[in-house]
Amino acid sequence: MATAKRTAPSKKPAAKAAKNGKPISSAKQVKPSSIGGVAKRRAQAARVIERLKADYPGATCALENETPFELLIATILSAQCTDARVNMVTPELFKKWPDAEAMAEAPPKALEKVIQSTGFYHNKAKNIKAASQALVERHDGEIPKDLDALVALPGVGRKTANVVLGTAFRMATGVVVDTHVTRLSKRLGLTEHTDAVKIEQDLMEIVPQGEWVDFSHRLIFHGRQICIARKPKCPECSMKSFCPKIGVESVTS
Ligand code: SF4
Repeated sequence: MATAKRTAPSKKPAAKAAKNGKPISSAKQVKPSSIGGVAKRRAQAARVIERLKADYPGATCALENETPFELLIATILSAQCTDARVNMVTPELFKKWPDAEAMAEAPPKALEKVIQSTGFYHNKAKNIKAASQALVERHDGEIPKDLDALVALPGVGRKTANVVLGTAFRMATGVVVDTHVTRLSKRLGLTEHTDAVKIEQDLMEIVPQGEWVDFSHRLIFHGRQICIARKPKCPECSMKSFCPKIGVESVTS
């Protein structure tokens, strides 16, 4: 699962100007939201959810796994890498080191060799081993059903924790924000933010909690098949009648 880049939130123009000694009134005004307030965004989210449910009723995480541990490791590997590539690597990986106890003892060089094609393999191997060791030490080798405990593991951020809890345990702890969710949320007028944490906050505000898990799986499916990054297929999209297509410059006809 590709990762949405997290960037530091920029300072508001008025605050910046005040800090620079200029009167706030002379600062560039923050332009009013072009996508409306919460009520309007909530109504838009309801339309999107309805269409996604109809288009992708069975959408789920594309990372192949048989246990919550495998899902955690596959999700760590999916950073800056396609799910298809991760799925090519994990059968051999889990055959060699099937659980946290075995992975914690994996020789680093051998581990790096197996996961090399997923990119950033040195760091990923380090994180996978350290996370497995922490699971053994703190949780008897099991995956904790707790967001805080998961994000305390090496190499595990909020996105990875949400994927594992949502997919393996159906726990709606947040909305998974990857590169597809980031792009589509903006195009569909659900958020104006580019920072993953703020996008997630916006989506949690307008998508009912019971929909969080499936919403992100379905949005990711739509991003892969129709609303692709370079040239979205708007003419064949089921949401074209109500999508504001924010930021879309080129469309596949
Ligand atoms: S209408 Fe176009 S921009 Fe909007 S969701 Fe569909 S493919 Fe994406």
